[in-house]
Amino acid sequence: MPEKYPWEGKVTSVQPRIRLHRSFDEASHSYLGYVLQIEGTINNEERDFSVGIGKGAQAKHAFQVGDIVRGACAPVEDPNKETAEFYKVSGLKVMVRSQISCEPPPWLGCPPDLETYRSRGHRRLNTKTYSARCGPCIWGCRMPVEMTIDHWNPEKVQYRTETFCYGPKSCPSYRPGPTRKVPGRNGMVYEEEDWVDEDNTAHRGADE
Ligand code: SF4
Repeated sequence: MPEKYPWEGKVTSVQPRIRLHRSFDEASHSYLGYVLQIEGTINNEERDFSVGIGKGAQAKHAFQVGDIVRGACAPVEDPNKETAEFYKVSGLKVMVRSQISCEPPPWLGCPPDLETYRSRGHRRLNTKTYSARCGPCIWGCRMPVEMTIDHWNPEKVQYRTETFCYGPKSCPSYRPGPTRKVPGRNGMVYEEEDWVDEDNTAHRGADE
């Protein structure tokens, strides 16, 4: 059993914890839970840190920005597969529930269930925009990406992170950034063009 660290602090972001698997022009997702960004203390050290939790924990505690929360957690074993620093959380407790009253964007409050994210679909989101404006928004997501370079040799993988937006297409903060390129076998490269995002979100109106 890994050592667990006690932590406590203020929630500054709750976003979905989704892993993206790419194999050239194919993409699929694993819906793992949620990532809490915390401003507080972990193992007696004061700092910002992130914690991955399961969907059951989020359903039970309904974490949202501004809550004061405590728990215990273990360091992530493979940072390629998680954007959170810690996971395997236990002893979760909301000490103080926040009252949110601010106009979006960003959208704060309690995020929806993972099925809602899956059915909404996402668009690529500029990494700089994500860092500057979308960190606290429930519709933002920074995903760990596992890329199978050669499907005849599935052991050969590369890792990176990508940022996405599940929010309303009319959000004034939204910037797509450059198209994403996916490496393939024999030096080939797949470019994910704008139509992929348009297709993923075609079932939603501008303000949905
Ligand atoms: S661009 Fe997307 S993630 Fe960023 S504030 Fe708007 S809806 Fe939220």
